[in-house]
Amino acid sequence: MRSRPAAAAAQAIGAEPAGKLEPGLYVVATPIGNLGDLSRRALATLAAVDAVVCEDSRVTGLLLHRFGIDRPMLVYNDHTAARLRPELIDRLRRGGALALVSDAGTPTISDPGYRLVKEAHEAGVPVRAVPGPCAPIAALSIAGLPTDRFLFAGFLPPRRDARRRALADLRSVPVTLLLLERGTRLADLLADAAEILGDRPAAIARELTKLHEELRRGRLAELAAAATAAPPPKGEIVVVIGPPEEPAAEIGERAVETALLEASARLPPGRAAREVAAVTGRPAEELYRRLVELGRARRGGRP
Ligand code: SAM
Repeated sequence: MRSRPAAAAAQAIGAEPAGKLEPGLYVVATPIGNLGDLSRRALATLAAVDAVVCEDSRVTGLLLHRFGIDRPMLVYNDHTAARLRPELIDRLRRGGALALVSDAGTPTISDPGYRLVKEAHEAGVPVRAVPGPCAPIAALSIAGLPTDRFLFAGFLPPRRDARRRALADLRSVPVTLLLLERGTRLADLLADAAEILGDRPAAIARELTKLHEELRRGRLAELAAAATAAPPPKGEIVVVIGPPEEPAAEIGERAVETALLEASARLPPGRAAREVAAVTGRPAEELYRRLVELGRARRGGRP
């Protein structure tokens, strides 16, 4: 049964009439700051489900109260998930309609709910998305960095050595990176990223959709220096890091050899290696050794 205020809320926003919601698990995105971002469909769904499965009933209670929705809440977080999940799946199997929300943004994205969604599928229960705000996607959409391929890596480990290992794993991935970070660790993250990933273009999105919304764009090294010099920023942060930049000339091995031989016909080996290094971006010492080997090969292996 749905309470009167809930039915009124659904009707007030032009939602489907009471009782129209199909059974299933509804994964409902909620605002990451600005309450105006709660969609009409999210409101209608929250007003019509049997219960709202949430991370923190104080946070979600405030949201529901703000919109005049009075639905039972079930707290699903790291402490309760294992115990509660069988009961939720059982309710869904018996034809219930439940909404899954997190404190803010899209549930299951660095938030609880993945196992609930998985087990709902395994139980043959319909799972529907009620999409909306998502901080990493909002940051990506305004960062002005490539959006065609990206990788969301959530929060990297807080300990320095583990964080640096995680960055090293990401170094050669040729896509834009999306990371979440706390203000107190931002300077360390940016400094490690500049050192390990290279000085790539990046953006820091803070307090998106809120009063003190801010986007800083720049190269990792300059953003790291600015963050180190300032007090830790307050609020919530997404770091967007552009993909590795290709060397100016990505020249194949055969072409490098041809360039070396051509240069060595005009110049002493050291200068030939430096000339090709300047064009290809490869280390001159490596090219010098290569030139020596090429000369040796041409002389039939004689030194
Ligand atoms: N599931 C959420 C979503 O879809 O946005 C993300 C949950 S994660 C636990 C929370 C982190 O998201 C914050 O610590 C911060 O890094 C980022 N975040 C959330 N709201 C934000 C905002 N308004 N502006 C910038 N970053 C935000």
